[in-house]
Amino acid sequence: MGFRLATIAGRAALLSGNHYYDLERVSNGRFSHHTRHALAHTNDLHTLAAMLDQATPDGTLDGITFDPPVPDPTKVFAIGLNYRAHAHEANLAIPSLPMVFTKFQNCLAGSTAVIELGSDTVDWEVELVVVIGKGGRHIPAADAWSHVAGLTIGQDVSDRVVQFALTPPQFSFGKSNDTYGPIGPAIVSPDLLPDPNNLAISCQINGHTWQNGRTNDFIFSIPELIAYLSAACTLTPGDLIFTGTPAGIGMPSKTYLKDGDEIISTIEGLGSMVNRCHRV
Ligand code: ZN
Repeated sequence: MGFRLATIAGRAALLSGNHYYDLERVSNGRFSHHTRHALAHTNDLHTLAAMLDQATPDGTLDGITFDPPVPDPTKVFAIGLNYRAHAHEANLAIPSLPMVFTKFQNCLAGSTAVIELGSDTVDWEVELVVVIGKGGRHIPAADAWSHVAGLTIGQDVSDRVVQFALTPPQFSFGKSNDTYGPIGPAIVSPDLLPDPNNLAISCQINGHTWQNGRTNDFIFSIPELIAYLSAACTLTPGDLIFTGTPAGIGMPSKTYLKDGDEIISTIEGLGSMVNRCHRV
């Protein structure tokens, strides 16, 4: 059946067609206004979503501003170098283990949020973001999809000078300014996607397509990443995994984001994010 779950004006909402339905209201208080509380119970979300056509919507999606669908995850993992073509563009060998870093929670922003550029060396990275549903430790790859509540779009906005100024590099700090992690617009359950392991993913800057790949180019698949991360860290509902970016970032040509630039990040079946840049 499938569900789309968003956060609108600080409240969890299920989406259906062009309408949204407040989750706390349509669940008769079973769930709170935090998406994180519901994400452990995806069976209930499927059931609620199937009944929405008999419910009264809280509003239409016309002109709606989406907050990050999970505003307060316990963990925000990110994976460097997870597309073969991107490893090639960066002149780096295919890694033998996932290269894991974190983005701090403060960087999360909504799907139309303004990106506040803190320097003139800020780059784009469109990414598929996995949203964990049922948590766990030592999750085998074969069971991993049952721990995925859904997928959403993310931008791993990256200040390349901060990231690479020192040895070793400081990925987490260079990628965690406020607004450097827009996600959304909504969490889409995997059953709504034709093949959640093979999605078209692209990024346009001011209408020019810079990144255009497919997630079947992953070096480490979503199940392999969940198995690897959960071998060390207990995963909890709402945890996010930025799964790496395809080829076509700006750094190789020293092209960086400028005041007024418009970033459009698109993933098949998940929609698009439109984020404008403002140099602060
Ligand atoms: Zn990235």
